[in-house]
Amino acid sequence: MTITADTPVRALPGAGPTRAKQLEEAGFATAYDLIYNLPYRYEDRRHPVRIVDLGGHVDKPVLLRGKVMNAILHVTRLRRMKVFEVVLEDGTGAVKLVWFNQGFLADQIKRGDRLAVFGTPKLSAYGQLQVESADWEKFEGDDEADGAIVPIYSKVGNIPPKALRQIIGGALAALPSIDDPLEPDLRKRLGVIDLAPALEQIHRPPQLDDAFLARRSRAHVRIILQEFFTLQLALRVRRASEEVVTKTRKIVLDDAMRAEVKRILPFRLTNAQKRVVREIATDLQSDKPMYRLLEGDVGSGKTIVALIAAIIMVRNGHQVALLAPTEILVEQHYQRIRQLVDQSLVVAKSMGSLTAGERRTLLAGLRDGVIQLVIGTHALLEDRVVFKSLGLAIVDEQHRFGVEQRQRLFAKGDTPDILVMTATPIPRSLALAMYGDLELSVIDELPPGRQKIKTAVRSATQIERVYHFIDTEIAAGAQVYIVYPIIEESEKSNLKPLTLGFEATTRRFPNRRVAMIHGRMPPAEKEETMQRFKRGEIDILVSTTVIEVGIDVANASLMLIIDADRFGLSQLHQLRGRVGRGARQSYCVLVSDIEKDRLTQFAKTLNGFDLAELDLKLRGAGELLGTRQSGAMRFRFGNIVRDIKLMEKARDLAIEILAKDGLARAQEIVEQLLGAGIEKERD
Ligand code: ADP
Ligand code: MG
Repeated sequence: MTITADTPVRALPGAGPTRAKQLEEAGFATAYDLIYNLPYRYEDRRHPVRIVDLGGHVDKPVLLRGKVMNAILHVTRLRRMKVFEVVLEDGTGAVKLVWFNQGFLADQIKRGDRLAVFGTPKLSAYGQLQVESADWEKFEGDDEADGAIVPIYSKVGNIPPKALRQIIGGALAALPSIDDPLEPDLRKRLGVIDLAPALEQIHRPPQLDDAFLARRSRAHVRIILQEFFTLQLALRVRRASEEVVTKTRKIVLDDAMRAEVKRILPFRLTNAQKRVVREIATDLQSDKPMYRLLEGDVGSGKTIVALIAAIIMVRNGHQVALLAPTEILVEQHYQRIRQLVDQSLVVAKSMGSLTAGERRTLLAGLRDGVIQLVIGTHALLEDRVVFKSLGLAIVDEQHRFGVEQRQRLFAKGDTPDILVMTATPIPRSLALAMYGDLELSVIDELPPGRQKIKTAVRSATQIERVYHFIDTEIAAGAQVYIVYPIIEESEKSNLKPLTLGFEATTRRFPNRRVAMIHGRMPPAEKEETMQRFKRGEIDILVSTTVIEVGIDVANASLMLIIDADRFGLSQLHQLRGRVGRGARQSYCVLVSDIEKDRLTQFAKTLNGFDLAELDLKLRGAGELLGTRQSGAMRFRFGNIVRDIKLMEKARDLAIEILAKDGLARAQEIVEQLLGAGIEKERD
């Protein structure tokens, strides 16, 4: 029988009905699926180490081959742990193999068995060499356990590794029948080898050189690039299809507007701000809808950039919506913008706490166009909110803004221009992977005269000294945040650490004005507390992460973060960004007894972009964005940290193809690539 890509797994050699069923349950239906199930590591079984030589290989993974002389299962007295011990002998010597809590092994490994063992010899507490929790396999005679580089696949059901290798090996016979979804021309432009040899090499590597082990071999590059290129081209094609829609509004930027902007500016823009304003202004004047991500570290001055964009749009006769994630931020933007523009713009705010009458006025004002700039939460995206002519939507703090919201915004106007602002500096690699279709503007410069925030890590046992420091700072006129790691505020019970913390703080600082704020408070009360803090009527604000994004109180110069290990570095950076906004020397103190390394690294790094890179490496994309990994970030083969260069290459070719070969051709390629199913997910 010839095996092709479509051959069902049950027809593959070695896959009887039971194993076929397990394969199917794991999502492998055909030979094709198995071919794309790549090994996650390899064992070089060509060079077994003689047991007598083991002493020279301590702490290094080795292959051993030998015969089981003894196998016993016993249970430790103290912790009732099952320990399975095997003595392996190879004619040169003997060594102990140990497995913990795997009692079932006693049924699988018996005296007299011949084993190939792959593990790391270690010195036990008693100075004896032993190999713990090794991978193992039985072998008889001179089968593949001898002299081969063996691919190791993720477990499928309880199919023994060797049987799984045989089945997958059989599926590889289908390779010649698989069409390469990358045509020769594209392979050449990407500089990659053909699909079949790439897959063949990954399943049956001829050599295990460093490049191969680091997934840098030509075979790996081929597979990863195909995956990235599919994504990049798909993103670009989607974007280009949208761009076919041209805007009907004509936006001009004239001297009157320039003069107005100059008049309201309370300071000189930084060069980075100027550059970004130019980028945005160009987009607004173009006949394609803008979709731009504005990245800027906390305090880099994104708000004023947004306001300038808004002024341009309003003076051209269209409305602007500014969306913020919380009502506190809506209020803050509203106050600040009102202050800047005085009476020259009709600005309104939209929030849940409006009275029915206020809400009616608001909706009417948006519908008849009297309101020029509206600042509100995402409630603005609701259907009953209708604009006369929405020209620009600005989304502050993009965390919770996705494709769906973008579609809703589009539906509200004549394809409004969209500016998404974020203070979570998204590492380039991630931005590329997630937003290959967004234009990116970066404010990489802070306004002059900013203080460097001093960051320190302290143990819980040192808290009294920290309190003492807080007291002297308050005496000198400072205000303080104390933050508790309550992220999920939906459950009332979760607020307990906060309320306890509040009580403890009140007790410790009887002469200071202490207040508490959290996301479950009624909006009006929250707002009132925030305003009091801003007016300097509160010395210590005990809070959850509601203060994480965007709050600006210049006089707050000390932030104490309790159980700081519970936060990601990017989130800590957001919190830290709440201080250091005024002239006073600012401090951020992290209290924690765990993960001190990570926190110390944080303390040493002030640049948000560096921290985001670090966070991405340590915690992965999902955590970094505060969401589980989703969509574009879930790659089967590539890794956005390790393979950033390949992502850039994929993007460059995607751009080139749209420019040179055109949209129709790009669409065709995407279909071909998606049809190949390489990006199909399997968890
Ligand atoms: P973010 O980028 O975090 O949203 P903001 O827009 O809130 O930052 O700006 C932070 C602070 O810096 C504000 O008080 C703002 O008035 C001030 N600011 C912004 N741009 C400049 C500038 N070019 N020079 C001086 N101060 C500035
Ligand atoms: Mg902001």
